[in-house]
Amino acid sequence: MTDKELADLIFPNIDKTIEDYEKMYPERELSEGAKVTRFAPSPTGFVHIGNFLAALTDFLIAKNSNGIFYLRNEDTDTKREVEEAVDKIMEVLEYSSIMPQEYEYKGEVKGNYGPYVQSERKEIYHAFIKHAIEIGRAYPCFCTASELEEMRKKQEAKKAMPGYYGAWAKCRDLTNEERAERVKNGEPFVIRFKSLGNPNRKIKYNDLVMGLIEFPENNNDMVIMKSNDLLPTYHFAHLVDDHLMRTTHVVRGQEWLPSVPLHVELFDAFGFKQPEYIHNSLLLKQDGDTRRKISKRKDPEALMSYYIEKGYPSISVIESLMTILNSNYEEWRENNPDASFLEFPFNPAKVGTTGALYDLEKLDNISKNIISKMTKEEVYEGLCEYAKQYDKDFYDLITANVDYTKSILNIEREQAKPRKDFAKYSDVKKSIWYMFDELYNPSEFEWMKITDKEEIKNILNTYMEKYYNEDDDKDTWFDKVKTLTDELGYATNMKEYKQNPDNYKGSVADISTVIRVGVTSCSQTPDLYYILKLLGKTRIMERINKL
Ligand code: GLU
Repeated sequence: MTDKELADLIFPNIDKTIEDYEKMYPERELSEGAKVTRFAPSPTGFVHIGNFLAALTDFLIAKNSNGIFYLRNEDTDTKREVEEAVDKIMEVLEYSSIMPQEYEYKGEVKGNYGPYVQSERKEIYHAFIKHAIEIGRAYPCFCTASELEEMRKKQEAKKAMPGYYGAWAKCRDLTNEERAERVKNGEPFVIRFKSLGNPNRKIKYNDLVMGLIEFPENNNDMVIMKSNDLLPTYHFAHLVDDHLMRTTHVVRGQEWLPSVPLHVELFDAFGFKQPEYIHNSLLLKQDGDTRRKISKRKDPEALMSYYIEKGYPSISVIESLMTILNSNYEEWRENNPDASFLEFPFNPAKVGTTGALYDLEKLDNISKNIISKMTKEEVYEGLCEYAKQYDKDFYDLITANVDYTKSILNIEREQAKPRKDFAKYSDVKKSIWYMFDELYNPSEFEWMKITDKEEIKNILNTYMEKYYNEDDDKDTWFDKVKTLTDELGYATNMKEYKQNPDNYKGSVADISTVIRVGVTSCSQTPDLYYILKLLGKTRIMERINKL
């Protein structure tokens, strides 16, 4: 029996050939140097920050070269698939504005190189597998799970290399007649790729991150099609999809590096040009004295949903990842403070080869800086978008008081040294709640030094009756606070006060604190002048009278 006859027996209904598919998915007509990248997540129900880093890298490479960035849903491992998992992937892409030009979502297909969902590409994979059988580079393997387990134990006992190769590869040497008979008898089988490699020989491979690396050749007859659902394994889908979708650059995690020799052999066997690879290093977390992999079980920040739910502007997350991606990013950012990250000349050779530390504190600093530079309109918009989903009551409040909220957000903003107090939108309510009567229900007053209630009332009443005027400009306002300070026996001159503290009841700082705490209950707020102005005399009086 010929290999072709065996192939026809296994795939009787597959009549399209590789050439047919080559015609259906021709080389892309792109400008010189344009790169085609893809984000290829498995729908697991979450997006790991490491996956997002890969997507960001893909996006950048495609954008920088006027190329194509597409999304491929790698759902061949159906056991792991959870409902709405694709929604989660799209949510992350939409949140970050890292949108693919080609994708398939909720029945809508964008792009001519689909289907973009692997489980819908079964027929295509089968045509390629059929071809591999025809040319003697693939065969059905009937080994059961328990036979394979036994083999593994024997290999372990003999200290032999694990895997399905050489004399261990029992089904490799079956005749086509034996194979045909077992297929006809309905025995379950997987399809294995027939490796011609020899681990004593080396392959040289040029990784864009690590440069030229040598690997022993692969000699393992890897499974390329599973028996239960007849879908391909990752390795084979990588070959077929990245070839037919005309991917030029594959960005993926370093965990795939050991598979490179197999991938080299697969692409060679089919005579396809292999894409270039960028293997991103793992993201690490500082844990006491050690650094370890960020883990989705231990670290909430391992998942992209964390950043969405906390209300980080996506640009902050992107910016913090960019500093990890290329070692020269921070320097570039210092020289180009207002440029978009998309203008950064990404260089794969500058991607780290060892794990990179991902630090939330650094993210917060980056994000505070970014939010502080936004206009009040931008912060308001971002806040609304966040609150609409995660704090509906607050959303109702800020949308019922648009101008007022914007004015609050504008305190110490849009100036040379803006205030840096929000790292994420979930921080906003915690720091401005007291500006809304609906939320103002203080349980504690942070009086600091002055605790004598009568004195507090005296300060506030004298201030409001004699000095406070809503129409004062900032200088006049402060002059009046000083006059009040003086009148009540407190020091206006801090230096003098420090030299002779006993001569005074306190200082102008204490007076300001009493006013600040009296109307907000908090000892830390943005500029008091604007707080008072926004609250207005009536509400200030109401608050003071309740003390
Ligand atoms: N589905 C694979 C994963 O999620 C993709 C790896 C790749 O990008 O090639 O790990």
